[in-house]
Amino acid sequence: MPDGSKKPVSDRLLKILACPVCKASVEIWPLSKSDSGLKCSKCNRIYPIRDGIPLMLESEVLSGENKTEK
Ligand SMILES: [Zn+2]
Repeated sequence: MPDGSKKPVSDRLLKILACPVCKASVEIWPLSKSDSGLKCSKCNRIYPIRDGIPLMLESEVLSGENKTEK
């Protein structure tokens, strides 16, 4: 487990963020050693965080059910 001293997104910001698809809350989800994303607690879509900015857009979804195929 990481020591948690460095969070990609503050707790405060995390509280106001919600999945744009189902409006459920999201949690910090480690993608790799240096990278984290935000995972929706309901649909399991994972949104990326770039330069400390969460990209809560359906088009940016990294994974999850119903991944867009266009
Ligand atoms: Zn969702």
